[in-house]
Amino acid sequence: MDQNSEHGDDQTKPTWEIPLEDPQALKIDSPSTCAGGLPAIRSTLQHTTRAMGLIRGGQALLRANQQKGFDCPGCGWPDPDEHRAFTEFCENGAKAVAQEGTTKLVTEEFFEQWTIEALGGQSDYWLGQQGRLSCPMWKEGGTSRYRPISWEAAFQKIADHLHQLNDPNEAIFYTSGRTSNEAAFLYQLFARLFGTNNLPDSSNMCHESSGVAMQEVIGIGKATVTLEDFQHADAIFILGQNPGTNHPRMLAALQKAARKGCQIVSINPLPEAGTTRFIHPQEFTQWLGKGTPLATLFLQVKINGDVPLLKGIMKELLLREDQNPGTVLDSRFIQQYTEGFEPFSEALRKMSWDEIEKGSGINREAIQQAAGIAMRAKSLICTWAMGMTQHKNAVANVQEIINFLLLGGNMGKQGAGACPVRGHSNVQGDRTMGITEKPNPQFLNELGREFQFQPPRQPGYDAVNAIKAMHARKAKVFIALGGNFLSATPDTAYTAEALSQCRLTVQISTNLNRAHLVTGHEALILPSLGRTDQDIQNALPQFVTTENTMGIIQASQGNLKSGSSHLKSEVHIVCHLAKATFKKRATPGNHIPWDQLMVDYDEIRNLISHVVPGFENYNERVRKPGGFYLPNPVRDQRQFPTSTGKAHFTVHPLAPISVDADQFLMTTIRSHDQFNTTIYGLDDRYRGLQSGRRVVFMNREDMNRYSLKQGDLVDLMSHFEGKTRTAPKFLVVPYPIPPQCVATYFPEANVLVPIDSVAEKSNTPTSKSVVVTIHPTA
Ligand code: SF4
Repeated sequence: MDQNSEHGDDQTKPTWEIPLEDPQALKIDSPSTCAGGLPAIRSTLQHTTRAMGLIRGGQALLRANQQKGFDCPGCGWPDPDEHRAFTEFCENGAKAVAQEGTTKLVTEEFFEQWTIEALGGQSDYWLGQQGRLSCPMWKEGGTSRYRPISWEAAFQKIADHLHQLNDPNEAIFYTSGRTSNEAAFLYQLFARLFGTNNLPDSSNMCHESSGVAMQEVIGIGKATVTLEDFQHADAIFILGQNPGTNHPRMLAALQKAARKGCQIVSINPLPEAGTTRFIHPQEFTQWLGKGTPLATLFLQVKINGDVPLLKGIMKELLLREDQNPGTVLDSRFIQQYTEGFEPFSEALRKMSWDEIEKGSGINREAIQQAAGIAMRAKSLICTWAMGMTQHKNAVANVQEIINFLLLGGNMGKQGAGACPVRGHSNVQGDRTMGITEKPNPQFLNELGREFQFQPPRQPGYDAVNAIKAMHARKAKVFIALGGNFLSATPDTAYTAEALSQCRLTVQISTNLNRAHLVTGHEALILPSLGRTDQDIQNALPQFVTTENTMGIIQASQGNLKSGSSHLKSEVHIVCHLAKATFKKRATPGNHIPWDQLMVDYDEIRNLISHVVPGFENYNERVRKPGGFYLPNPVRDQRQFPTSTGKAHFTVHPLAPISVDADQFLMTTIRSHDQFNTTIYGLDDRYRGLQSGRRVVFMNREDMNRYSLKQGDLVDLMSHFEGKTRTAPKFLVVPYPIPPQCVATYFPEANVLVPIDSVAEKSNTPTSKSVVVTIHPTA
C-alpha cells in the first residue's frame, strides 16, 4: 500500500462488502399510504439543487423526456405520444438526472488521495455522491490505486489484453440498460467481429424471464400495449411491481385510468404507497388532499404465491363460465387464436382450492373478488416487474399471466394486453440492437451480410454464466459498458472472486460505484458522457436513440455541458476500442469506417436500418416528434408469430418452495431513494424509514415468535444445496408482510442469493425468493 496515502492504510475488509451502518441512525415511522404530492416535489427540489444548482437543474429537467430533449436515464416508462407536459419527469427521474448532471467531479487528485481499499470502506451512497468521473484511470497489477492514463494508452491496453487471449470467448462484453441504441449496436458488432457472443446484459438479471416466457407462448417478448391503452382498460392487474418507486410516471397513467372507472388490482407481498393512492405533483389543487385511490383490491400474496393465485382466479372464471356459458371467457378468441385450452382447463379444474389458498396465502373470497373484476372487464391489462421474474418458476409466473389474458381475449385489442415494465431506460433497445448471448440466426445472417464477415454462432455467456466463467478462469477480460455489475448480480462474494480472477476489468462509467473497487489484476475506468450531456462531434451536435417499454424508438439529446473535457461518448469509446483492437489483427473489423461512425451517428443508424427489422428510414422517422413504434404483430394485428401462428395456453405445476418452520422466504426490494444499484439517499419515505438501509422487514407475529423487537440486530443466513451464506447485522423493522416472508434491500442482501439459484429456462437469479434463517447478532 502506498505510504503517501491519505485514506489508505486502515482497511482490512474486502472491497466488495458494503460497510455496516450505525444502527442508532435509523428512524422508523409508519409506512405512507399515498405517493407523490408535496413530499415528492420537495425531494425533487432538494436532490436537484444540491447536485446541480437551481439554474443547471432547471435547464436539465425541463428537457427531460421532451420531444427535443433527452430520454430520462431512469426507467423505461414511455412518454405520451403527444401533449407532453411542461415537466415530464418524476421524483426519481429527477434524482437520476441530478446524479448525472452534478457539477462535482471525481478527479485525478481524488484517486491520489484514496486507495481502492479505503474507498471500499465507504458506502455505496457516498461513492455515488463523489461526482462525475472525469478522466481515464488505470490500476496497474499488484497496486491498489488508480492512476491517470491517456485515452490512447487505455485503448491500446485493452487491445493488447484482447490479443493475448487464446480464444475470443475468453472476453466478456457486458452492457447496462442505459446504453443507447447506437453504442449498443456498435458494441455487439465489435464483440462479434472479435469472435464472441459473450454479450451478457442487465436484462439477464431482470426481465429475461418475461422475454423467454412471452416469446414461447405469444411469439414476442415485449409489451403488447401502448400508453394510450391504459386509458381504455376496464381493469389493470399490477403484479409483483412497485411503480411508485421504480417507474413513478406510471402512477399518472393509473390515476387517469382510475378516474375513468378502471378497476385496479394490486398483487404483491408488501402493500406499497404507489399502488394505494396518488397525488399528481402537477395538480397543485390536490396537494393538500388525500389523493386519488388507485387499487380497488389489494391481494397480499405470499412470496412466490403468484402461480397458485393466478390459477385460483382462472379456476373461478372457468366455474363462472360453466354456470353461465358464453358470458365469461372469450370463446371466439380462444378458438380462433389459441391452442392448448383443453389440457389447460382440465388441469385447472383438477386443482384443489386448498392447494390454491395455501400456496397463495389468499382466501377464496378475495380470489372471487379478483375474478369478478376480471370477468366484468371488457379490456384488461396485466403489468408486472421483477416480483414475477426473479423466482425459480419465473417463466411459469409470466406464462400464467399470459394464460389469464388469453382467457378474456385480452391481446391485440384496445385497452388490453401484457405489459412487462422495463427497469432501465434502454434495456429493451439494447436487446433489439443485438446485445444478447443467444442471437437469433436471422440477425446474425443480416449482420454478416452487411459487414461481410462470419459472426460466431456458438451461444455466449449470460450474466450468471459469465460470472462462473470468470470464476473458473475461462474468461479473462471483462468489459462493462455502463452499469454496476458487481452490485447488480447475485452472490456478491462469489462474483467479486470471479472478477478478481480476470487479467483485466474495464468499466465505462459516468459515476463512481462499487464495481470500480473490485478489479481484475489490471483495471481501467473510462469516463463517458451521459444521457444529459451535450455530445458534440466535429463541431456538430449528435443525438442518440432509445426504445422504451412500449417499443417506441425516440431521439435523445442532452443539453448539459459536461464539467470535464476528457469525457468521451460511449459511441466514441467503442469505435476507438475497435480501431485499437483491429489495427493489429487481420480481422474483418478493420474495414469498418470507425472514424466516420464516431463522428456521425446518422451513419450508425443507417447501418442499423440495414440489419435490424423495423428500422427502415430510421434517420428520417426518428426525427419526427415522438419517434416511431416498432412493429408489434400481437398488438397491431392480433397475429401470434409462434411456430403454429397461435398463442399457447400452458400448464404449470404449483411447485411451492418448501420452507421449514424456522425458515423464511426472503425477497429483495429497492428503497424509494434508489434506482437499480444507484443509491440516491438513505431514506425510504414510502416505507417510513430514514437514515438506514440495512434492515429486514418482518411480520409482527414472526417477530413475537422469535422474541424480536423493532431495532434488534440480526444476522441473515441463506440456505441452498447444503451451503450457507451470511449477511450480518440487519435491523429488524416490523412490517405488514405475510408470515414467514421477509424483505431486505438490494444490493445489501445480494450476498445471500446463491449463484446457482436461478430461474428455469431464463437463468435469472432468484433474488425474490431466497430461503433464509434469522439469528440475533451475537
Ligand atoms: S417514470 Fe421513469 S423514465 Fe419517467 S421520469 Fe420517472 S424514472 Fe424517468
